Amino acid sequence: MADLKTLDKTYIANTYARFPVEIVSGRGSVMTDADGKEYIDMGSGIAVNAFGVGDPLWKQAVTAQLDKVQHTSNLYYTGPCVQLAKMLCEKTGMKKAFFGNSGAEANECGIKAARKYAAEHKGPEYSTILTLWNSFHGRTLTTLAATGQEHYHELYQPLTPGFAHVQPNDLEDAIAQMKAHKCAAIMIECIQGEGGVNVLDADFVKGIAAAAKENDILLIVDEVQTGNGRTGQLYAYMNYGVQPDIVTTAKGIGGGLPIGCVLLGEKVADVFAPGDHGSTFGGNPVCCAGAVSILSRIDEALLAEVREKSAYIFAQLTGAPGVESVSGMGLMIGIKPSKKTAAEVVKACMEQGVLCLTAKDRVRLLPALNIPMELVQKAVAVIKAACAS
Ligand code: PLP
Repeated sequence: MADLKTLDKTYIANTYARFPVEIVSGRGSVMTDADGKEYIDMGSGIAVNAFGVGDPLWKQAVTAQLDKVQHTSNLYYTGPCVQLAKMLCEKTGMKKAFFGNSGAEANECGIKAARKYAAEHKGPEYSTILTLWNSFHGRTLTTLAATGQEHYHELYQPLTPGFAHVQPNDLEDAIAQMKAHKCAAIMIECIQGEGGVNVLDADFVKGIAAAAKENDILLIVDEVQTGNGRTGQLYAYMNYGVQPDIVTTAKGIGGGLPIGCVLLGEKVADVFAPGDHGSTFGGNPVCCAGAVSILSRIDEALLAEVREKSAYIFAQLTGAPGVESVSGMGLMIGIKPSKKTAAEVVKACMEQGVLCLTAKDRVRLLPALNIPMELVQKAVAVIKAACAS
C-alpha cells in the first residue's frame, strides 16, 4: 500500500483525495482491500455498480459481446446500442437516444440539443440554459458553467457563456428568470446529489415543468446520479409526474462500464442531423450489452425492493442519536450528523468495515440496488454507532 501510494502520488494527476484503502476485489456489495479486510459497500462506485461487483448476468452479457466484437465505429450498425435505445424509449416514452461515455458528455449533448432546437424554433438568441444553484452537472467547461456552484468555476474562466442560475424550490425566481432571459432550456437534478442530497419540492418541479412548457422552454432532467432505479422509480422525474423533453443519464446504467445516454422527447426527437454530434466510443457494443442486462432487470419488483430498503434506512436513522436529519429518496440517502462532521463519520465507518460517501455536510449512501437486506442492516448499525459516539 505504501508503495502504491507513492507511485500514485508520483504518476497520477493530483485531482483526487483518496481514502487510504486499496480495493483489490469484490463480490456483490462486499469489497476486499489489499490486506484482505472486507467492507460493506454503501457507495457502489458513486452509484455505478447498480448490481454490485461481479454481477454474473452483467458479466455474461459483457463477455458474450466481447467474444463477438468489442468496438466498431458509428459508421456501421450494431445490435446492442439499438436494443438499448429501444428499451429506454419503451420504458420512458422518450423518442430517441444518443449514447456517449459519461454523465458530463450526456449533459453536453442535452445542452446542444436544446440550443439547436431553440435556435431553429425561436431564434439563435434563445440560448440561455437555466440551472439551479448548488447543482452539479459535470466537469467539462460547459457542464461546469451549468453547475451552480461558483467555487468550481473560479480557476477555469472563461466558461461557456449562456447559463443563469435559479434558487432551488423558488418557483417565483424560476419564472422570473424564464422571463428575464431568452431561454432554450431549464436543467434540473430532481435530487441534488453532489450538492448534498437535496430533494426538490414536488410543487417546484411541477411548477417549472408547467412554466417551461407554456414558454416553449425545454425541460432537461439530469438523471446521471438519480437515474436507473436509484430513487425507487426508473428515473427520479417519475416520482414527480412530469414529462421532461430531454433526460440525461450515465453511471448506474453501465453497471461499471462507461456509458452516457441522452433521451430525446417528442419536441427534440429529430433535432440532430448527421454530423451534428457524435462520439467515437458512443454506443460501444460491449457497454451497451452490459447496459441492456442492467436495464432489463430494473423492474417493478426491484424498484419495490429499493423502496423497502430505503424505508428501513430512513426509519433507523431518522431521529437517531447524533443524527440531525436524513434526506433523499430510494437508495440515494444523505445523513446530516449533529455531533461529528460527515468526514469523521465516514472515517469511523471505514474503520468498522463500511464504505460510505460524503456530499457537502452529509454522509451519502448510494449502495447497489440489489444490496441484501442483511448487509443494509449491518451497515446501518455501524453508521448509527458512528453518528452516536
Ligand atoms: N450530473 C450529475 C447529477 C452527477 O452527479 C455527475 C457526477 O457525479 C455528473 C453529471 C457528471 O458525470 P460524469 O462524472 O460521468 O461525467
